[in-house]
Order: sequence, then C-alpha cells, then structure tokens
Amino acid sequence: MRIAAGLIFASVVSLCVSGGAWSQTATGPTAVPPAAPQAAPAAAPAAATTPAPLSKAACTNPDALGIARVVEIDTTGGPGFGFEHFKQLDFLRDHEVVLTFDDGPWIGNTPAVLKALADECTTGIFFSIGKHATYYPEILRQVLAAGHTIGSHTWSHATLTNKKLTEDQRKEEIEKGFSAVKWALDGVSPAPFFRFPALQHPPEMVTYLGTRNIAIFSCDLDSFDFKARNAQQVIDVTMKKLDKLGKGIILLHDFHKHTAEALPELLRRLKAGGYKVVRMIPKAPVQTLPQYDEELLKDAKLPTVSERPVSSVVQTISE
Ligand SMILES: [Zn+2]
Repeated sequence: MRIAAGLIFASVVSLCVSGGAWSQTATGPTAVPPAAPQAAPAAAPAAATTPAPLSKAACTNPDALGIARVVEIDTTGGPGFGFEHFKQLDFLRDHEVVLTFDDGPWIGNTPAVLKALADECTTGIFFSIGKHATYYPEILRQVLAAGHTIGSHTWSHATLTNKKLTEDQRKEEIEKGFSAVKWALDGVSPAPFFRFPALQHPPEMVTYLGTRNIAIFSCDLDSFDFKARNAQQVIDVTMKKLDKLGKGIILLHDFHKHTAEALPELLRRLKAGGYKVVRMIPKAPVQTLPQYDEELLKDAKLPTVSERPVSSVVQTISE
C-alpha cells in the first residue's frame, strides 16, 4: 500500500512558498470553568479580513527560530495527522516540527505564548475551545492578527467518546466549536483543522469529519504540559521525546501557565537542536453550518445589540 499512501499524501499536503497566501483556522473549551469571563464584543459582523501573513521581513531577530517551510493542506475527506493515531501522512522531514496549542484562548497565558512565538518569528496551530473563544474573542483575534493558524477543539471540551452523549450532541460539540471561533474572529472562518479532546476519537465522528472535509489532528509527541509541575518540566519532557523521535507534531497548551513560561526557552532549545518549524495552513477555510452559527448568536451570554455600559442604558428616574 506504499504507492497508494504516497498518492494520498501528494494530494493532501503540498509545499507552499514561505509567506505565501494564507487563510485562517479555529479552536475549542476545557473542563476548567473560566475564572473571569469577560464581556464579549459586539455580534460578529459578516466582513472577513485576511490575516497578516508571517513574513521574514517582519522578523527583527537575526537568530530567530523562524519558519522553515509552509505546507498547504487539502482537507477534502478529513485527513488525519499525528502518528499517535494516524499513520498515513508522514510529511515531516527529519528535524521538522509543528507546534500546536490547545484549549485557549486564555487570559495571560495565550498572549505570553504569542509573544514568545513572535520573538522567535515562528508560528503554530491554535486549537481553540469554542466557549473560551466567546470569553476572550479579543485574544483569539490577536492570534489571528499574528498570522497563526486557528482550528477548533469542540465547543465545551466534551470527551466525544462519552457514551452519555447522543450523536447529535457530538456533532453539536464539533460544529458549535467552529461557529464560536468564527464568531470570535468577527466572521473570519478558521481552518478546517480539528483536535478531539483528550485525543479520544469516536469512529463515527472521525467519519463525520471526513464528510465535512475537516482534517483531524492527533500528535506525534504529547508534551504532557498539563501535568507539568513547572516550566522546566515542560521543556525537559518535550525535548527528551523530540530528540528520540527526531521530528513531529508537538502537542502543547496555550491555556497553561507553565507552558507559556516554558515557551521562550523551549523555542531556543529547538533552534539550538537544529529543529525547524513547519507552518500548516489550509487550502480553504472551514464551512460552518448556518444552524450552529445562529444558535451561537442566540446564546444569552453573547451581546447582540450594544456594548454600552449599563449606566448609559438603564437610568433610575424614580425610587
Ligand atoms: Zn484540550
């Protein structure tokens, strides 16, 4: 089956010119309740803007890790990436890595991750939780503005293998996650890139994503940063696994403080170790389903009319 696999590969991943045209992506939620959800911005306008491309011209760090190459992904049929679960698409060369960040956007930690990536003129894929995107849309828009790829990680970070969920509820987790990210990005559709919470892949949802032309991302290397006691442990575990594998899609969490703290040093270690970052972009954005876009707008938590402070809307005239 080598030839067949090669043909599939060639049709799914194509090499792009660095800094070339780029479209956008989306993300999903965690089981942790938000500490202090912020008011979301005004309802999503229809206008979509093209995110700023990451370019060498914008990089002022001569020793930056940078971006070695850009690959464009044709997500037709829902290809799977990450050798922990999907073995067909071995597209990374020796010492190439893809950085992926789950569970954001989150206050403090996601901006710190963005700064570390910007300082090294490099990039990653952000798999956002839909609910978190509605808590902190302005942070997700910073991710977009910095030119990173955004995908989705469900609406509420439900484990989709949970037998208590109906098939409709599983689909809603997937679809509402993408709709929420699109809403947070002011109508810019994210990439059709999806990661299952806890890397639990119910076969019927894998099939469903195939019908939706959404790519599935497992990983080659789990940093287990969510279990790390400190930043150093994130660095040590990641580098040890990477040096053993030699390349891979790395799973990290911009949601976690230790990861945000670890990233500047981790990126320096990648550079020192001769690793190169590959940027993955979609050939076309995800097509969200109107019923879930509308369901999201009906959510009482989302402002749909005005951001005026209560004092300008409600005036006591008699008491
Ligand atoms: Zn997650």
